[in-house]
Amino acid sequence: MKPSGTRLSGAASAWNRRYSQRLVASFLVLALILAAVAVQVYRAVGEFVATNHWVTHSLEVKQEITLTLASLHDIEASQRAYIISGKLERLEDYYRDFPRAMEHSERLADLVANDPQQAANAVQLRDVIQQRIDGINAVLTQYATGGIDAVRRSLHVARSLDEDHRIDALGKSMIRNEDALLAQREKRMEEKAGLTTMLTTGAVLVCLLILSLALIALLREERRRLISDARVKSANVELTTSLNKSQDLARTLRQLSELGEMLQGCRSMEEATGSLQISLPHLLSETSGSISLINASKNLLEPIAAWGTGIAADNLVFSPNDCWALRRGHIHPATGTLPSFTCRHLHSDADTGIHGDRRHLCVPMVAQGEMLGVLTVTSDEDISAENREIAIAASEQISLAMANLRLQDTLRTQSLRDPLTGLFNRRYLEASFEREIQRAERRQLPLSVLMLDVDHFKRFNDTHGHEAGDTLLSQFGALLARTVRSEDVSCRYGGEEFTILMPEADAEQALLRAEEICTAVRNLDVQHRNLSLGQVTVSIGVATYGEHGKSAEELMRNADNALYMAKNSGRDRAMLAEVLHPKTEPRTTLSLASVSRFGSTSKAS
Ligand code: GH3
Ligand code: MG
Ligand code: MG
Repeated sequence: MKPSGTRLSGAASAWNRRYSQRLVASFLVLALILAAVAVQVYRAVGEFVATNHWVTHSLEVKQEITLTLASLHDIEASQRAYIISGKLERLEDYYRDFPRAMEHSERLADLVANDPQQAANAVQLRDVIQQRIDGINAVLTQYATGGIDAVRRSLHVARSLDEDHRIDALGKSMIRNEDALLAQREKRMEEKAGLTTMLTTGAVLVCLLILSLALIALLREERRRLISDARVKSANVELTTSLNKSQDLARTLRQLSELGEMLQGCRSMEEATGSLQISLPHLLSETSGSISLINASKNLLEPIAAWGTGIAADNLVFSPNDCWALRRGHIHPATGTLPSFTCRHLHSDADTGIHGDRRHLCVPMVAQGEMLGVLTVTSDEDISAENREIAIAASEQISLAMANLRLQDTLRTQSLRDPLTGLFNRRYLEASFEREIQRAERRQLPLSVLMLDVDHFKRFNDTHGHEAGDTLLSQFGALLARTVRSEDVSCRYGGEEFTILMPEADAEQALLRAEEICTAVRNLDVQHRNLSLGQVTVSIGVATYGEHGKSAEELMRNADNALYMAKNSGRDRAMLAEVLHPKTEPRTTLSLASVSRFGSTSKAS
């Protein structure tokens, strides 16, 4: 599947392409329309100018006709004035005016040369005017020679009225023709002006329309760009969030694997607990929680690590029945979607109720098919899906490590401890004896050894059975463990014989402690199958480093001798070994194994 960002940018670029194409097409259409309108306007204006020219031309023609007729009238007036007054000035006026009449008639003929009908009229007019002027000239000549009477008889005068009528009729006809032409030309000019106005108005409207469409398109594009920007931004936010999530996940997985490696490398439960105490708050951020392990008797869960300040970090001991995850054998609440029972160990008031919240989580810790304990997480907010997954993964890692440590512990205990009494075995005694002697030597501190032998144990066995004998030995071991100091080393030497190494205890203190043990054993009420097995006693021999020997063998032998003496003195007592003579101080290299107590006391019985 393509990432949403790529899809978006692909769609956006297609849209941009279409948009650019539409914009270019709009521009082309606009340019074409404008070009067409420009051509039309140019042509219309050209025609308008041409029509205007012809209108002017018609007006000129009309003016020229009027001027021609007027100049003819002037000539006639000058002629009449001269003939009537006989004044020569009037004749000068005539000679001045008549070339003008000819000029106008010539010019009129030139002006209308393009119009055959008018041209014919103009030629006719010019000829009639010429004829008239010739007649006037003839009359003037007759006047000059024959006086007014000659004028009265002149044919030219008789014809002049006809000629005037013809000239007037021709002039009027030409003016009518020109008026008709003018009317046509003015009409055409109006039409061209209307067309030009219509075209320019239409062009302006079309341009406004196209500009409006372009504006709408621009606004749409702007809106689309804003939407697309918002989408890109949200896609970026999504991308950043998912990148951060995957980085967080990678970091968490790294931390989980580091936690697993660290736990696998731990040599003791304390080390593992310390490492969990540091790691879990980082792994399960913004939560509180604890890890509780099921004890040996499987009736209690004891916290080994806790973090945060919530109820889960209260370090409370609780019963497996108080936790739904342990009762059901899987994570609780199961999916976190339905309201569910809250585990009783998470209620300070031990009340069980249904809670709608999903702010607690118990993950059972199981390894190699055995239930080891529970990982509990609580939070003020709902526990996130990520924290849920981390809790499950962490619980698996911790379970494996705990199972390993337990196995290591069992193996170590089996190799160092006596299974019946829980005390150290002889192997451990041999290893620690030399070490304690060296320490006593180096620090110049006292060291004592106690040899203990249960009195008449054979008889006890015979009376109550071997099983009851075992119970006695087990309870005797427990008594020793709780009576001596933690730095003392209590061992089961073999059978019903025990040895205690007491570092920093001199002969007097060791003897005192031995007597305390005798008293405690005497007061021990051994129960087997709900039956009291009667009083038990013990005999103890005490030897101290330096006074009774400098080697383990020597000290053991002398303590054994003292025990022998205690047996011989009536049992149920402690006796100190005899002080060695300095000259006879032996330094043997015998092994402890060669100091056998079996059978030694039987000599005394
Ligand atoms: P004394 O007072 O002189 O020490 O007499 P005793 O009977 O205690 O001495 P003895 O050495 O004769 O007897 C020791 C007996 O302890 C012999 C053996 O059967 C018994 N014993 C040794 N190991 C065990 C054991 O693990 N369990 C039981 N029930 N009995 C044991
Ligand atoms: Mg005995
Ligand atoms: Mg014995």
